[in-house]
Formats: sequence, C-alpha cells, structure tokens
Amino acid sequence: MTVVSWIRRSLRDFDNTSIKKASREDDEVVPFYCVDTDYFREEELGYPRVKFWRDSLKSLKERMDEKGKDLVVRKGNPVEKLEKVVEETNANKVVVNQDYTPYFRQLVKRVREQLDVELETVKDVVMFDKKEITTNKGTPYKVFTYFMKKWFEREKRKPERHRDYVVPDLESDRIPSLEELGFYKPEELVWQWNPSRKGGLERLEGFKEKIGFYKERRDQPSIDGTSKISPHLKFGTVSIREVFWEMEDLKREKPEYSDGVKEWQEELAWRDFYFQVLWNWPETVNNAFLEDFRDINWSKNDKLFEKWAKGKTGFPFIDAGMRQLRKTGWMHNRARMAVTSFAAKDLWLDWRKVHDYFSRNFVDAELSSMIGGVQWAYSIGTDAQPYFRIFNPWTQGEKHDPDGDYIRRFVPELEKVPDEYIHRPYEMPVQVQKKSGCEIGVDYPKPMVDHEKRRKKALENFKRMKK
Ligand SMILES: Cc1cc2nc3c(=O)[nH]c(=O)nc-3n(C[C@H](O)[C@H](O)[C@H](O)COP(=O)(O)OP(=O)(O)OC[C@H]3O[C@@H](n4cnc5c(N)ncnc54)[C@H](O)[C@@H]3O)c2cc1C
Repeated sequence: MTVVSWIRRSLRDFDNTSIKKASREDDEVVPFYCVDTDYFREEELGYPRVKFWRDSLKSLKERMDEKGKDLVVRKGNPVEKLEKVVEETNANKVVVNQDYTPYFRQLVKRVREQLDVELETVKDVVMFDKKEITTNKGTPYKVFTYFMKKWFEREKRKPERHRDYVVPDLESDRIPSLEELGFYKPEELVWQWNPSRKGGLERLEGFKEKIGFYKERRDQPSIDGTSKISPHLKFGTVSIREVFWEMEDLKREKPEYSDGVKEWQEELAWRDFYFQVLWNWPETVNNAFLEDFRDINWSKNDKLFEKWAKGKTGFPFIDAGMRQLRKTGWMHNRARMAVTSFAAKDLWLDWRKVHDYFSRNFVDAELSSMIGGVQWAYSIGTDAQPYFRIFNPWTQGEKHDPDGDYIRRFVPELEKVPDEYIHRPYEMPVQVQKKSGCEIGVDYPKPMVDHEKRRKKALENFKRMKK
C-alpha cells in the first residue's frame, strides 16, 4: 500500500506535515505536485509571485530528486492528475496540507466527490487554524488582541523531520518555464529574491541579527528592519514552526532581544488571525467584513487608479511605496498601509481593484493577509482602522521617513529636492525647483487630489453608510 503526499503550497522537504504524516502511515510515499493549470487561468497572478513559486518548486524537485525522494510533478487539472497518480501507484490514501482559500475548499470537495481514495487534510501552514482559538462562547475572534493573547498562551508544535520512506518509480512532467505559462518580467522589476529553501533559511538567519531592533525599526521603510520572509512563508520554503522556534531559541541566547522577538511573533499571530478570518468568513473575499459598508459605491475611475498604481500621485511617500512594489515586488508594511488608505479615502477606489493589483504584483501575495490588510486600511474589515481615522499622506512620510531616504530611493526625480520640501515638493519656490532639477508639473506631479476635501468627503460617505 502507498500514501500520496500531495504537496501544494509548502515547498520544502523538512517539517512538511503532509510528508511527515504520509511517512508515518506507510513506508512507500509518493511526493506529488500538480502544476495546476486551472489555477493559472482563474487567479489574478503576476510575474513576481509566479517566479518565486516556480523557482522554489524547481529547487525543491532538484533537492528531493538528489536525495532519491523524487518529487512527481504533473501538469494539468489537479483532480485528474491526482486520480492518475493514485491509480498508477494503487495508493490507498492522500494527505494534503490544509489551505484556507475558497479555491482549496472547492478542490478538496471535488477530490472527495470524484476520487475513490481517502483524502486527509492536515494543519501545516499556520500555528492554529479554523476554530482552534475561539472566544469562551466558541465563536471565532473578530478582534485581534484577544486572539493574540490566547495564541501566545497555547502550546505550539515544534518542527519535526519525517520518517524515512521509499518512493515508487514514476514519470514526471517538466516544470513549465515562466514564458510557457505566459509570464514575462516587467521592465521595472529588479529581481532580488532567492526562492528556495536555502534562500528562506538565509533570510531567517540574517534576520536574527536585526530582530533585537525590530520594535524600533519596523516602521521605518528606509531601513531594512523587517525579515522579508513573507514570500518564503507564502510558498513554505520555511515552516511557520521553524521561524517561531528559531526566534524562541535566540531569545534564550540573547535575552536582550526578547522585546523584538515578541513584537515580531505578534506579526506571526496576525498572519494566523487573518487565516482564521478567511476560513470562518470566506465571503470576505468579495465582500466587506462589516455589513454596513458592503454596498458602498466605490469608484472604478481608471485615470485615478493608473496614477496611483504607477506611483505618480504627487504625494511622495505614497509614490515611493507604489514604486518600491513595481521595482522589487514587495512593499514595506508601513507603506502598504499608507498607499491603501490613500486609495480608499483619498481616491475612493474600489478595494477589489486595489486587491487585484496587489495580487498581480506582490511577490508574497497571500489571500488571507491581503484581504485582511486591504479591508483594514479601508475600514471595512475585522478589527479595522476606524473609518474616521484617516491617514494624512504627508504626515505618514514625515513621521516614518523623516529624512526622505525612502522617498529619494524610489522616486529618483526627487533625489535632489532639499529636506524641507521632500514631503511637499509642490511648495518649492521656482528657484529651488530649478536648482534641484525637479520642475513641479513637469518632472514630478502636483498632488493629484486635495487631501482635505477628499478626507471630508470620505467621512461623509462613511457616516451615511453607517447604521
Ligand atoms: C494592504 C496590505 C496588504 C498586505 N498583503 C499581504 C500579503 O499579500 N501577504 C503577506 O504575507 N502579508 C501582507 N500584508 C501584511 C504585511 O504587510 C506583510 O506580511 C509584511 O510587510 C511582510 O514583510 P516582512 O516579511 O518583512 O514582515 P515582518 O515584519 O518581518 O513580519 C514577519 C511575518 O509576519 C507576517 N505578518 C507581518 N505583518 C502582518 C500583517 N499585518 N498581517 C498578516 N501577517 C503579517 C508575515 O508573514 C511576515 O512575513 C499586507 C498588509 C497590508 C496593510
């Protein structure tokens, strides 16, 4: 008898729960991956994320093949391909790591309906899922603070190796190239990621030197003060248990890092929080979590959207965030909050349009965290920013990028603008514009909207909708 370990988003061979579980059930395991062509058709994907996924998968296959634990890759419809592998191996069971998206739920349903094989889903991607952490009444949490308290109190699994197993000899399809899948590198993108297990472990190791300062530095986008481990967590080149426990161990070695470690682990708890929100309220993929705000008439104005997406709003901190995304495939969390809030309350852009753009451009695009983050900034989600708290796009920059280093790095036309005007270049006298080689309205735009007017309008709109 044989067990299939159906690998999907956890692209690693260490502490991978589905491999672990399969290896405990039987001596013969089929590590199987399907390049799901349905997914490529249905989802809003983009080059950075697809490249990260493909390179990580390729690296995993090479690694497993080298160890004699060949990863069987097939390309096509996942239900059909899984059925074929089950038939070829006479497998009596399939184990897959639980995912929390509506797409995965559908997939599991189809497998259970169509295939004559037992399918077991196992928790791997998060520390706690579904309804493991609930209120005392047993309902899922809508407020993060209470969720987090229990998240820290609960005992957590440690990373574990799988048992040794043998693999049957099966054919594999070639992993398609990005071009074959229809993805081409955008001109502006400068690739800076190492999508592999090695890359993930290096990221984690490198961050150990920084985590002690995380609390002070995490909100300054000009500093490389966060882990940038998000795409590795997304594609599972490292496990959530590894990243949590590595830092627990570090805390014991360096107790002075404790505050930084705690603050960082809180972010891992946010990640779990949003996964359980997506699981318990899957309708939030298309609808605001807060019912009062479901029928807001958001704008679909393409002109406004284009300026925002290209980082040509005339608000330097916002433009720096959007251009960091275009250039690197990643955006600092502070900038993510500021640009999304600007899209919401200054431009009144449909949050789904903003979400789709992020989805196509973020290397770490994760449905749960993205819906959570976008709806938070739009004041329409779980534990969201209250609608009357509206970020000021200039003071966000003044506070979190006081010297304008972040702005200058990503908005080169402002490079020579003096410090006193870096956040409000439109106030530069003509002489200063000439001297800094930045003519407003020519080299860099005037602010695209009147923030004060837009703020008032947004407040009125929200108030009208609030029941
Ligand atoms: C509008 C918006 C959209 C977002 N979209 C995504 C997304 O698609 N994918 C994604 O992974 N994160 C998303 N986030 C959360 C957060 O911005 C990123 O996780 C973080 O910037 C990644 O950088 P890092 O790995 O250096 O984070 P660190 O600060 O080092 O944090 C460590 C890890 O904790 C998790 N984390 C951190 N902050 C959050 C958060 N607010 N919510 C959930 N998990 C968090 C991530 O897995 C992250 O890698 C979004 C936030 C906002 C405001």
